[in-house]
Amino acid sequence: MIDFEMPPDIESTRQMIHMVAETVMRPIAREFDEREHEKPWDYYNLMWAASQTSNPVTFGGGKPSAPQSARHLTSVVTVEELSWGDAGLYISTPSPGLGGTAVLAAGTPEQRERFLSRFREGSPKWAAMAITEPGCGSDSAAITTTAVRDGDQWVLNGTKIFVTSGLMAAEKSDGFVVVWATVDKSAGRAGIKAFVVNSGTPGMSVTKVEKKLGIRASDTAMIVFEDCRIPLDNLLGSPEVKAAPEGFKGAMATFDASRPTVAASAIGIGRAALDFVRESFDKAGIKIRYGVPPSKLTAAERDFMDMEANLQAARLLTWRASWMMDQGMRNNLEASMAKAKAGLAVTQVTQKAVELLGPLGYSRKHLLEKWMRDAKINDIFEGTQQINLLIIARRILGYSSKELN
Ligand SMILES: Cc1cc2nc3c(=O)[nH]c(=O)nc-3n(C[C@H](O)[C@H](O)[C@H](O)COP(=O)(O)OP(=O)(O)OC[C@H]3O[C@@H](n4cnc5c(N)ncnc54)[C@H](O)[C@@H]3O)c2cc1C
Repeated sequence: MIDFEMPPDIESTRQMIHMVAETVMRPIAREFDEREHEKPWDYYNLMWAASQTSNPVTFGGGKPSAPQSARHLTSVVTVEELSWGDAGLYISTPSPGLGGTAVLAAGTPEQRERFLSRFREGSPKWAAMAITEPGCGSDSAAITTTAVRDGDQWVLNGTKIFVTSGLMAAEKSDGFVVVWATVDKSAGRAGIKAFVVNSGTPGMSVTKVEKKLGIRASDTAMIVFEDCRIPLDNLLGSPEVKAAPEGFKGAMATFDASRPTVAASAIGIGRAALDFVRESFDKAGIKIRYGVPPSKLTAAERDFMDMEANLQAARLLTWRASWMMDQGMRNNLEASMAKAKAGLAVTQVTQKAVELLGPLGYSRKHLLEKWMRDAKINDIFEGTQQINLLIIARRILGYSSKELN
């Protein structure tokens, strides 16, 4: 029998995180949207302290509070709640973030311990992942940043843009940046490897922090690598350039774990908007009548139910993709499905919410207009809507990336 009930331990974690979202994040959400580039240190310190005893997938530190078999499911449930609180703050929370996900996906057990153990002690830390370049985004195989071996070191040269938490990871904490670079341009994808560059390494510098439409509490940085030297064993996985692009595949596996997380964040934002619409309708005496034939519903009721159904569908896809990871199953198709569905759903739901509430939705007095701005990024990073649809089509139709692009 299919069971959609949340296990009690995950449900109690969800409730606890919801309380944090409501009482800690919501009250400062507007402030750190408007004061972009200023850092909510009280929030960071509190979340860092909490992370030392919490789920390592979400926060990167401490002891696992969920059974290992439910780590990813617990993580997406947690991320939905945090993003219901505030997506920008959630993304800026000190944690191994995407950099940590890359180390878990492509690193050896020794590398996991070496790079991630620091997240279990000391002061707040961040890690980031730098793939995108001025001339390459969706087509990550076109990376031009180079890694050249010189004795017992790799020397990195190139420019990375739009790196989430790049400033905090590269310069403001004892974290690291995972950099995708090619060791052999002529080998195409097979030459692309992921390298860990520790915070403060000479030759790595943040040259710009973006001003953005949404998730403004999160820093997004340009990082330049100029003769940046790192130890040989900071390359994640095997240094060999083989005919089969195993290194690239290892790095791409990062997305199997991270896309459901982005989907969960999208759902959290969408749910925040939906809750606000419901409360506003309640105040106006408008009740959503479930179980009534569609022909008898008002347009607002139909819109509301449509929004609700879309978020629920996205959530089920997200839970499935995460559950598959917990079972050790390949979830590349399902991760893209969850991300594509949730990215589109949250964009439509937040826009419809603003539309339904008119000036109330557009005013800065409330957070709804902010949620509409925060929503769109979920359709852009970690593979755009179009790229995830391409991946889904390739997997279902059995085409390679060369055959369908
Ligand atoms: C706030 C923010 C945070 C980010 N964080 C990170 C990060 O931490 N690390 C990182 O490496 N990057 C990060 N990015 C970059 C992000 O992943 C890229 O912007 C994204 O992958 C798209 O790449 P691009 O910007 O080069 O756009 P392009 O690849 O040029 O795409 C432009 C448009 O063309 C479409 N398109 C491209 N190729 C195809 C195709 N084959 N078929 C159909 N449509 C296509 C795209 O869907 C998109 O709509 C971040 C971006 C933002 C805005």
